[in-house]
Amino acid sequence: MSEQKIYDTIIVGAGAAGLTAALYASRRAMKTLVISQDIGGQAAMTNEIENYPGVDFIPGPELMNKFKAQAEKFGAEFAYAEVVGISKNMDEKNTPVFTLSTNTDKYVGNAVILAFGLTHRHLGVPGEKEFGGKGVSYCATCDAPLFKGRTVAVVGGGNSGVDAALLLAKMCPKVYLVHQRAEFNAEAVLVEQLKQSSVELVLNSKIKEIQGDARVQKIIVQDVNDENKTRAIDTEGVFVEIGFVVDSKLIEGLVELDPRKQIKISTDAETSQPGIFAAGDITNISFKQVVISAGWGATAALKAYEYLQKVKGFRGVSIDWGVSKKSTIMPVGGK
Ligand SMILES: Cc1cc2nc3c(=O)[nH]c(=O)nc-3n(C[C@H](O)[C@H](O)[C@H](O)COP(=O)(O)OP(=O)(O)OC[C@H]3O[C@@H](n4cnc5c(N)ncnc54)[C@H](O)[C@@H]3O)c2cc1C
Repeated sequence: MSEQKIYDTIIVGAGAAGLTAALYASRRAMKTLVISQDIGGQAAMTNEIENYPGVDFIPGPELMNKFKAQAEKFGAEFAYAEVVGISKNMDEKNTPVFTLSTNTDKYVGNAVILAFGLTHRHLGVPGEKEFGGKGVSYCATCDAPLFKGRTVAVVGGGNSGVDAALLLAKMCPKVYLVHQRAEFNAEAVLVEQLKQSSVELVLNSKIKEIQGDARVQKIIVQDVNDENKTRAIDTEGVFVEIGFVVDSKLIEGLVELDPRKQIKISTDAETSQPGIFAAGDITNISFKQVVISAGWGATAALKAYEYLQKVKGFRGVSIDWGVSKKSTIMPVGGK
């Protein structure tokens, strides 16, 4: 285990919300760490973003890499890991200090910004976990090139599933699309493209098991109307494209959640726990979009800055509004 590091603010998640929080926090001279499993989160899973203001069209990974580079330019640090625990202790001044644990390290922060977004919905079938990264993928946009020339199966009948099947059909000789109904929930235009494509539809069916050796070799598909009716399909890849869910187990009992287990926040991105802020898709905001997550990330960082000034006597700098004011020491509680 390496030495403990202490940060003014630690951000969990490097999607649009976390990366924007990192930019704003580091521009206020907070010692900032982002701990994330990946860079870009959901936005990095699409090759077409057409509604980020000021940018006509940009692949998601490119936009997210720009977010990261900008945050790094102002000093934000990154650690690539899953946060598996967050605990609170009180310091000698009776103010909270948070310890964030990954499987290998512990990091201490005076403020925390939760921006861990949404999590892929899993099939929950035997073999799924075992073959994760060994043929099972949750992001066709990211991983499709790795399966070029191979037989693959996609699961899902919504936009993501149909989109993934169409993308893979451009580079794979055989693509199966497994869907548990007879009709698709995807947009009509995508369904029409699917009908014209070479994708083989496996309808009214669900995956019962994923089998293989070192990597995926086949899936066992079951008829949803007759569980005795099964079929084995040889495939080297399984793309699980069945949407996203809220997974907030990490912070259960630490901050208040709404009935959907989303983090409840104030209009200033505060949670019920002083010192912990939250932003983006993991919160109880109404709309989930890149620009919205980015806006909440900025709010969370600015509020964390204000909190650190008031509670911890933190003295940062203000370099916002496009003009560097590095010499301006902000008074405690200053604006
Ligand atoms: C296919 C697709 C296309 C989309 N297209 C558009 C679009 O065109 N325009 C638009 O505005 N919006 C679009 N969206 C929605 C948009 O991407 C999201 O609303 C937005 O990106 C959410 O950002 P976020 O930072 O709140 O969360 P996320 O993007 O979900 O990021 C969460 C981050 O937290 C990390 N994380 C999670 N748990 C942990 C943990 N325990 N420890 C460490 N890290 C963790 C993840 O690895 C990830 O980096 C699309 C979404 C998808 C899936």
